[in-house]
Amino acid sequence: MNTDIYRFKLGDFQCIAVSDGTHTYAPPTFPPPAIFLFANAPRKRLEQTLREHNLYPEQWAEWVSPYICLVVNTGEHRVLVDTGANGLDPNTGRLLENLQAERIGPEDIDTVILTHGHPDHIGGNTDAEGKLVFPNARFVMWKDEWDFWTSERAELELDEHVREVLLKFARKNLPPIQGQLELVDHETEIVSGIRALAAPGHTPGHMALAISSRGEQLLYVSDAVLHPIHLEQPEWYSAVDFAPEQVVATRRGLLKRAAAEKALVLAFHFPFPGLGHVSQSGDTWQWQPISTIG
Ligand SMILES: [Zn+2]
Repeated sequence: MNTDIYRFKLGDFQCIAVSDGTHTYAPPTFPPPAIFLFANAPRKRLEQTLREHNLYPEQWAEWVSPYICLVVNTGEHRVLVDTGANGLDPNTGRLLENLQAERIGPEDIDTVILTHGHPDHIGGNTDAEGKLVFPNARFVMWKDEWDFWTSERAELELDEHVREVLLKFARKNLPPIQGQLELVDHETEIVSGIRALAAPGHTPGHMALAISSRGEQLLYVSDAVLHPIHLEQPEWYSAVDFAPEQVVATRRGLLKRAAAEKALVLAFHFPFPGLGHVSQSGDTWQWQPISTIG
């Protein structure tokens, strides 16, 4: 299967899940994956759950996470959701070449939606020289998120190195978009058929998107879940979640909605193309990845 590009239709909208590459989360920079992703999980329960997924904490040495952006051609607008992590490591920053292969140039994008200010979601705003990559785009971000990352007092209880990387990417990739930026502070339609949803917790102004055309629904949940196990264990938060209680509430809200509406879901860090459905089981959920065969 092509793990860079996945085209699909949503009603009248032409959509493409586009990979920016993958990033490996492992010690010493990050805690071991099981601790990084499920920071508060009780040990026994964690081991049991991982086993059900053929994962073993001692052997699970690294988490290789895809970074999956989304292009939506609504007919009226060419929208890009999140810009990947250009310059984070040699395996990221593939967004532009993958778009190019689909004959989409950066100048064709008229709207860039940034779900939050982490390096993997804003890191393609600028090139290696710091120049803006999408010259014709209006950028849209949640106001609390912009305020958080552009204030000098962004408080992050994280490992010093991780904190530095986060701030470096924010300083490089946010100020250049200021002249083309529109901030939202309530749930609203960004372009016809794409609605901003407040989804705080992972970061202070983390945003999800409800995309709909002709009755078909796509929920872009971004980082409200990082791993399919977060559907089964929605109370387990990650070491990078800013406000754990808020993460859990946001996640429950989005998953409930996805299951009720039978919406297609795109999760940025899930196995490519990150698309699937959410089924309810008791008061938790299960991830049903779409079939990409054929
Ligand atoms: Zn992310």
